[in-house]
Amino acid sequence: MVKFKTCNCPNCGANIRFEEGQEKARCKHCDSDILIEKDYDYEIKKNFYERLKAGQKYNKGQKILSYIITVIVLGVFVFIGIKTYQSFNSDVSKSAFNIHFTYSNGRNNKFFVENYIDTVIDSNKKYKNHQIYVVYNDITTNKEHELKELKTNLEDKDYQISIDYDKDGYVNKMTIED
Ligand SMILES: [Zn+2]
Repeated sequence: MVKFKTCNCPNCGANIRFEEGQEKARCKHCDSDILIEKDYDYEIKKNFYERLKAGQKYNKGQKILSYIITVIVLGVFVFIGIKTYQSFNSDVSKSAFNIHFTYSNGRNNKFFVENYIDTVIDSNKKYKNHQIYVVYNDITTNKEHELKELKTNLEDKDYQISIDYDKDGYVNKMTIED
């Protein structure tokens, strides 16, 4: 829609009506040609608001982008963290995992058997992929509370300990016999 504006004729002072954006007009009263000054203020304001709006749009886009990047970067870090943790848990070397049980085969007194059971509890907590079961009398368990109970039932004497390994070579069973 065309907007109309008015100004006064610089020659005779009559009212002149002109369209917005129109640069020249003719006074109907004195017939003189008039150069209409552009409404610079209006233009500047308009440009300013347009620029401001565009800037805000840009900032908003930038904010969303930086948010997305932050989420992705955090995600990558969490992923790497989980993978590292998992690999630490599953890829522990056989020798490192078995070292605590290397000398357990054979006859051991109560004190050593208790220590081996504690080591089993620790290993089971730490390496969930490599659970060690303890067999004693008719009990086979890898549960912490049952292993602790088993410890309290040990008598002050020597026990025969034998170690079994899974197909990958990790200790997975400790059998305690009288
Ligand atoms: Zn005039």
